[in-house]
Amino acid sequence: MEHEALLAELASIVGADHVSISELDRTTHGQDALKEVALPDFVIWPRTTEEVAAIMRLANRERVPVTPRAGGVGYTGGAVPLHGGILLSVTRMDQILEIDEPNMVAVVEPGVVTADFQRAVEARGLFFPPDPASLADSMLGGNVAENAGGPRCVKYGVTGAYVLGMTFVTATGEIVKAGGRTAKNVVGFDLTSLMVGSEGMLGIVTEITFRLLPLPEANRTVSLLFSSPRQAAGCVTAIMANRVIPAKLELIDGFSLRAVAEYTGEPLPKDAGALLLVEVDGPASEVERESREVERIARDHGALEIVVAHSEQESERLWSVRRKMSQAVGRLRPRKLNQDVVVPRTRIPDLLDVVDEISNRMNLLIPCFGHAGDGNMHVNVMIDPEDADEARRGKEAVEEIFRASVALGGTISGEHGIGYVKAPYLGIALTPDTIDCMRRLKRTFDPNGILNPGKVFFN
Ligand SMILES: Cc1cc2nc3c(=O)[nH]c(=O)nc-3n(C[C@H](O)[C@H](O)[C@H](O)COP(=O)(O)OP(=O)(O)OC[C@H]3O[C@@H](n4cnc5c(N)ncnc54)[C@H](O)[C@@H]3O)c2cc1C
Repeated sequence: MEHEALLAELASIVGADHVSISELDRTTHGQDALKEVALPDFVIWPRTTEEVAAIMRLANRERVPVTPRAGGVGYTGGAVPLHGGILLSVTRMDQILEIDEPNMVAVVEPGVVTADFQRAVEARGLFFPPDPASLADSMLGGNVAENAGGPRCVKYGVTGAYVLGMTFVTATGEIVKAGGRTAKNVVGFDLTSLMVGSEGMLGIVTEITFRLLPLPEANRTVSLLFSSPRQAAGCVTAIMANRVIPAKLELIDGFSLRAVAEYTGEPLPKDAGALLLVEVDGPASEVERESREVERIARDHGALEIVVAHSEQESERLWSVRRKMSQAVGRLRPRKLNQDVVVPRTRIPDLLDVVDEISNRMNLLIPCFGHAGDGNMHVNVMIDPEDADEARRGKEAVEEIFRASVALGGTISGEHGIGYVKAPYLGIALTPDTIDCMRRLKRTFDPNGILNPGKVFFN
């Protein structure tokens, strides 16, 4: 079908105001947080599930690629329309349809911004824990498609743990209702779980039902300074072994701490080799007990400095170190190859040793920080892409870090997914039979390979 005729058909589905071929729209929607651009031919903003289904029937008939996009702040190029075609933005599907307080359930559209949803449920004394650091921009459809996590996942689990059901549209335009709104539901195959983390390759999510929790009564932050990452990692294991499950448990290595100190101009104690930021939450009495327990364990593990926040402002100040991390580390070299590897938390010291060895051997800056409580570390290989030799060493380092993470019992992504950036490394994490099983599922859901082509296993 001619470009003009396709444009006219798309406009007849959503209205001429909600489809664009402008250079500006195509450029702004042709990238995510990676900042690598591939231009779509059309950008379209449907409002309803039925409109999404009509777009998919048309695209399937004409064999035009469709790439779904929510907030567009993914880190692995998932929403980048590598093969052009239609970029389907869900930003007009932005309604919180229902917050059912007695059943602690919410029904939302995929274009609701994560932070807006959290605020809306918290205003009712309810709690939606998954908290990707991108939550001011990311959207719930993107969070579900990536199975996003965040600091609170050590205690509360990732996005998928909260999805009870959803409506999605297949590549061939059928409307599927998966799961439901009850805590228990074992009718048929669990298509809801299959869709979670499917990176826009199996269907387009148009409505999601989430379960919610009661908002914790209190929380408290404790900051712990150590002389080495190994000592800090030992403290992480001890905290959990003592049956304290913090809401957040973040580790920042000495390298990253020095980058923040340089960035902010705030001095750092001479011996500082790693920082742990711990937040406990729950009933006020439990918070008191758990924070004292954390202090005791930290002292036993040789903490150089222990700071307990006694107000929201103090807590905010302690967490500001973590919040400044990305900008501070980003100044070290022009490009950050941000890897979100994950290992069993007792193996974090081994992972950090491996990274240290690679950093020295390959002469690369590799600051590490992240969600130590669940073993998910951000290992940032810093390079200058203009320096061909450094770029080559950076690429080799990334592959070695992936192989080491798998050898330590972990895997190559705990949060950001595969997209196209990590697609070349899929075979490090998954066996050929496992990848083949995924390919066969993909063919069943999308026989003509039009939905988000070029991602995960280069379909
Ligand atoms: C500064 C920063 C911090 C981050 N911190 C975290 C973090 O702490 N934890 C974490 O997990 N991630 C983090 N990320 C990565 C990213 O924000 C998450 O993956 C987030 O869930 C992406 O949401 P999005 O709405 O931007 O999705 P997009 O980037 O728009 O899309 C992501 C994927 O989902 C697909 N998709 C989008 N909408 C739909 C839909 N309706 N149906 C089907 N598929 C769809 C897209 O095709 C794409 O494959 C961070 C990113 C940045 C830039």
